[in-house]
Amino acid sequence: MIVTDFAELSDTKVLRHRAEAMLHGQVAHPATQFARASPDQTLYASHEFRVQQITLELQNEELHHTRLALEASRKRYLDLYDLAPVGYCTVNARGMILRENLKAASLLGLPRSTLLKQLFSNFVIKEDQGKYADLFALVLASGQPQDCELRLLNVNGVALWVNLATSLSDGAQGAALVRVVLTDISARKQAEAEMRQAASVFTHSAQGIMITTRKGKIVEVNDAFSRITGYSRAEALNRNPRLLGSRKQDRDFYRGLWKSLTSQGQWSGEVWSRRRCGEIFASLLTVNAVCDIHGDTQQYVALFSDITALKENQRHLERIAHFDPLTNLPNRLLLARHLQLAIAQAQLRNQIVVVAYLDLDGFKFVNDRHGHDVGDKLLIHMATAMKASLREGDTLARIGGDEFVAVLTGLDIAASCLPMLTRLLNAAVARVQIGTVVLQGSVSIGVSYYPQEHDVEPEQLLRQADQAMYQAKLAGKNRYHVFDAAYDCTLRAHLESLERIGLALVRGEFVLHYQPKVNMVSGQIIGVEALIRWQHPEKGLLAPASFLPEIENHPLAVSVGEWVIDTALAQAEVFHAIGLDIPVSVNIGARQLQQNDFVARLRDILASHPEVNPESLELEVVETSALADLTQVSLVIENCQRMGVKFALDDFGTGYSSHTYLKRLPVELLKIDQSFVRNMLNDPDDLAILQGVIALAMAFRRKVIAEGVETVAHGTALLQLGCELAQGYGIARPMPAGDLPAWAATWQPNVAWRSAGIQ
Ligand code: C2E
Ligand code: MG
Ligand code: MG
Repeated sequence: MIVTDFAELSDTKVLRHRAEAMLHGQVAHPATQFARASPDQTLYASHEFRVQQITLELQNEELHHTRLALEASRKRYLDLYDLAPVGYCTVNARGMILRENLKAASLLGLPRSTLLKQLFSNFVIKEDQGKYADLFALVLASGQPQDCELRLLNVNGVALWVNLATSLSDGAQGAALVRVVLTDISARKQAEAEMRQAASVFTHSAQGIMITTRKGKIVEVNDAFSRITGYSRAEALNRNPRLLGSRKQDRDFYRGLWKSLTSQGQWSGEVWSRRRCGEIFASLLTVNAVCDIHGDTQQYVALFSDITALKENQRHLERIAHFDPLTNLPNRLLLARHLQLAIAQAQLRNQIVVVAYLDLDGFKFVNDRHGHDVGDKLLIHMATAMKASLREGDTLARIGGDEFVAVLTGLDIAASCLPMLTRLLNAAVARVQIGTVVLQGSVSIGVSYYPQEHDVEPEQLLRQADQAMYQAKLAGKNRYHVFDAAYDCTLRAHLESLERIGLALVRGEFVLHYQPKVNMVSGQIIGVEALIRWQHPEKGLLAPASFLPEIENHPLAVSVGEWVIDTALAQAEVFHAIGLDIPVSVNIGARQLQQNDFVARLRDILASHPEVNPESLELEVVETSALADLTQVSLVIENCQRMGVKFALDDFGTGYSSHTYLKRLPVELLKIDQSFVRNMLNDPDDLAILQGVIALAMAFRRKVIAEGVETVAHGTALLQLGCELAQGYGIARPMPAGDLPAWAATWQPNVAWRSAGIQ
């Protein structure tokens, strides 16, 4: 029987068997399937040969098939190996890379050819070298597969996380080889890190976080939630966020919140909530809806922070902005609001508002003497006492160091405030002991009222009360003074006119008129007096009395005075040019004369008019108490006289100390005031004064001239008294410069005067 089960036989035996089976026709050989062997025993040898031949053929054919199969298998293996999605490499016991697949090469970042013979450890980052060495040692020692996760640094400098699975295998001559399977797990590691980060943010966030289901069941809270609300995680889970409700928000509030959440998926704003202990707190809340891929809300995430401290701080800041920190009284800002409100109410109710400006008396002294601490305590004490003396609706504000303002409202008549002012004064004078020091304060109060005849702004009311307070101080302190609106009007008018006069000077609205001074006997024109006028564009020609007094104590007086000298000298040049050589007199105000640089200024002005001989300039100084320092004034006069300038004492006889002036001021000429001249004909007293003045002038060897000679009779009488020089309407009125030449050409003294002189 032919054995056909090849499994039990060796390869050669199988082939021989198959060859014999073929000869007996049991198995068809592909090449001899129609051949039939002869059963003749003699043919045994050839049969044997034939068997061997067929066996050989079969052997060759099998070998070929096996080779092809092997080749295909090898190709499949190589494909699988090379193109595997994980990296494979084989390293020897020293860790040197012997073989690797494409993936391994790409993970390590080098072409395969250059990887061979490199140590695998070269690609492990420094920090994980130890881990790798342990793993390698363990797999060699134990023979068991080992794996770990570590970081490789490929040649491009890119770090990647890999899972390293190692196992032992035998190499040629029994040398140990380690198979390494590399799986890139960077993406997973990155995701894990992000997860960890998110979890850490959630856990450690300073903001409270609460996640609820769509239906409002709390499913997660973080530590900050518990810290802020007082509810532990366990207590909060499965509850509704209403557990934090404070009832401070109404239905509309929640309606708005839900509307925004459903339409925009988000809401944020400030919310009042309640802690577990019942305390209400303010939080800044943001709620976001979390949707699935279909856009359906799955959860809500609420983030909130406790802003109670912030709110408290804000309130504190607001308080600082409106209240004085020392006395806790409203400050200037809040006062302005109260005052505005008080005025608005008074307008509605037809009532009066009283503004009282209070300034502590001698507070600076307390500060300097006892220090700021004591000063502060005194301020607090007085503020408290004064506040207590006022009624409920009244305001007391501190607007500066020791300055306060009280606003009294609800008054029907102004006088009703007087008892309150007295109460304020009394409250301020109470004695107070601060440490070892006993102090008694007092306060000066200035008062202004609303409404007034003209519209007044709140700021103006304060200014008025401030001014009145100064009056109270001047009047002796510890009292009140009510602002005088009429006086203020005058003052305002004064300031306005000062401004206008300054403008007139700039615009050249001033002019000089000239009034001749003559010798009534000889008819000689001994000079002209320059008299200022204001050619006002609306009011016409104004006399000096209507504007000079306004600037008397103002630097403008000096500017105007210099303009007069300069203009008069310019005019003298003109007169000189037309052959009219007459001295010009200019009136000098006391203020101007007493300027430090008066002499120098005069020299400059004279220098700018070289055609004019300084001797033809005369300065008229009014005998007034304004000439404070006579020694100084006489020095100035002497200095000017040295330049040739002459001096006259104007309005002589009207002052209190004419004799003193006469004695001390080295003037050449006395001008007898016109008031004596005017009445000399019918007032024996004035006549006597006139006689006395003329005698005095003669005794002091001064020339004398009479002003205000209005009639021939006046002139005649003066001549009889021995006064030949005169000025007055009876001779000529002050006239524009242009009129003077014609006047000078025609003027003749009265016949009566000539004859009086002859007598
Ligand atoms: P004054 O220096 O005594 O000047 C004489 C004033 O008497 C002038 O008034 C003049 O017009 C007026 N007058 C002259 N004769 C008569 C008369 O017969 N009857 C009457 N009733 N008045 C007469 P005016 O121009 O109004 O000047 C008034 C005062 O203003 C001057 O008195 C002088 O003190 C001052 N003044 C005038 N011009 C100036 C100036 O340029 N500078 C300064 N500082 N004061 C001036
Ligand atoms: Mg004069
Ligand atoms: Mg005069």
